[in-house]
Amino acid sequence: MERERKIEILAESAKYDVSCSSSGVENNTRQGTVGSTAVSGICHSFTPDGRCVSLLKLLFTNACIFDCHYCINRKSNAIPRATFTPQEVADLTMDFYMRNYIEGLFLSSAIIKNPDYTCELLIKTLKILREEKGFRGYIHVKAIPGADEKLIEALGFLADRMSVNVELPSRESLKLLAPDKDPFDLYKPMKQITTVKKEQEFLPAVRRGPSFVPAGQSTQMIIGASPESDRSIVKISENLYQKYQLKRVYYSAYIPVNQDNLLPAVTTEPPLLREHRLYQADWLLRFYKFTADEILSEDKPNFNLYLDPKANWAVQNYQRFPVDVQTASYEQLLRVPGIGPKSAQNIVKARKYYRLHLTDLKKLGIVIKRAQYFIACNHETPAGLIKDPEWIITSLISSKQYEVLKKHNTQSTSEQLSLFDVERFEHAKSR
Ligand code: SF4
Repeated sequence: MERERKIEILAESAKYDVSCSSSGVENNTRQGTVGSTAVSGICHSFTPDGRCVSLLKLLFTNACIFDCHYCINRKSNAIPRATFTPQEVADLTMDFYMRNYIEGLFLSSAIIKNPDYTCELLIKTLKILREEKGFRGYIHVKAIPGADEKLIEALGFLADRMSVNVELPSRESLKLLAPDKDPFDLYKPMKQITTVKKEQEFLPAVRRGPSFVPAGQSTQMIIGASPESDRSIVKISENLYQKYQLKRVYYSAYIPVNQDNLLPAVTTEPPLLREHRLYQADWLLRFYKFTADEILSEDKPNFNLYLDPKANWAVQNYQRFPVDVQTASYEQLLRVPGIGPKSAQNIVKARKYYRLHLTDLKKLGIVIKRAQYFIACNHETPAGLIKDPEWIITSLISSKQYEVLKKHNTQSTSEQLSLFDVERFEHAKSR
């Protein structure tokens, strides 16, 4: 089969994989325009020093031996199949690299023949790149669950980042929807990567040798194919960050591609807003020192689609506000909607030198429009502050935002609106 035909087939099969930062972005590009990241091809990732790099995104093969219900590449689907050779992937990567289109490679694969065989093919590819072609660019590769530990280790010494996809947010769903996958096989490589990395860190610099997965590991979860609550998903992410020091958890709104009794109907819209809320909650876990139990409770296990998780937490805990920006700790400041890590640092730094006034806050990076309901400054509160959480909720949602959200608000989300009364919103806005 021609290389171009393989690229066409495998690009189509790879487009539902989101384990990189620009996946899922629709740029509305047309023929004759530039900048499409939607169909696969080039995606983006962030290096440990925060640089954004363009990656060539390739699926090594779609000839899978597994039959995961939610996947376009499952063995029971009658789709065109193709498999690259290691040499082809290495050549493609070098071609794109030499033309300055990319800075690295994002290589994923279905399971061909068996996990060991698949992993060996990936190792061979990376060896050609690293050892024969001298490629020093960034490589993100999928760790193949079920492959021998020695193979996973060999792959890790050739890659910058590895990812093992958790796929679904519970063992029960995995058993039902990915019957060939053993949950143990998913967590084993994650654990191994964490252990080898830690062992390497403890070695004196002169004895460390080549770096093992220097950019760490990430994972991906499909959202909306199975019935888990938002709270259980956020708790899994928290656990993964703590236990395996993951760099990122990616959330992928389920896109129905197969007609299947165990899955939502093919006409179901991907829950994109829910995916967005999960990314916001993930941000709170990683940068705002929130715990999963603070973000969502057992009583309210799903996101309020009308408010971001931080604003939602703030109105539910309104008794903690307003916080005085002149005296509050860094941690208290971080909890205020409209104040992020950078602006909280700015406040802490600035108030060492002068007494802050409400008029100073904008210059320090605070989004006053959001923060105004939750702050005081030298006992001064912003004009018009009304200490009524219901009124604040209404004010935090603009009419435009409300209309967009209402459009997204499908049946399955109605339960998630418990904090917010739609009729009251419409009434308040019409006053
Ligand atoms: S292992 Fe499952 S999810 Fe992965 S490519 Fe095969 S069928 Fe798809």
